[in-house]
Amino acid sequence: MDLVNELVVAQAEAAQPDRALVATLKRIFAIDPPSVAGVKAAHVPELTQLAQRLHAVFAGLARGDVDAAARGLNELLARHPAQPHLAKEDGVWRLHHHPADAPLVPMWTAICAEGLARVVGLPSAQRLGTCERPGCGRVFVDVSKNASRRFCSQACQNRVKAASFRARQAAGKAT
Ligand SMILES: [Zn+2]
Repeated sequence: MDLVNELVVAQAEAAQPDRALVATLKRIFAIDPPSVAGVKAAHVPELTQLAQRLHAVFAGLARGDVDAAARGLNELLARHPAQPHLAKEDGVWRLHHHPADAPLVPMWTAICAEGLARVVGLPSAQRLGTCERPGCGRVFVDVSKNASRRFCSQACQNRVKAASFRARQAAGKAT
């Protein structure tokens, strides 16, 4: 999610140098310390490409084109298959989706594609959203009770509300 928003949407709004993006990626990869230590500017182009492909999957889901979303995920999974296996961490067995020594980009491709693929085809796929504010396009997981979220943030919701309020006022004055 953050990968898409930071590498595709935020980059389109205001391009950051690779050095700043590496810092952002370290924050995104925080759950996996080896990724935080290993991510370099050289990874940015490939990770950007991954984020663009994931963004296309969200776009497919947003317009109800599940076939396109599934095709996009299958392409990613064919290139970088997930390899589920159990690993013992601090005495507890946990399911991992890739060996710890897998290269960074294939590992994150498999993690992201498999995570999304698990949801496609389920009712919960409707909870993968794309912000409806024109010009935003950030993606989110809707965890609201009635799955009614339409915007990535309160800021976007407020901007759309304010714009429609102004539009109604203008329409009121015109008549
Ligand atoms: Zn938004």
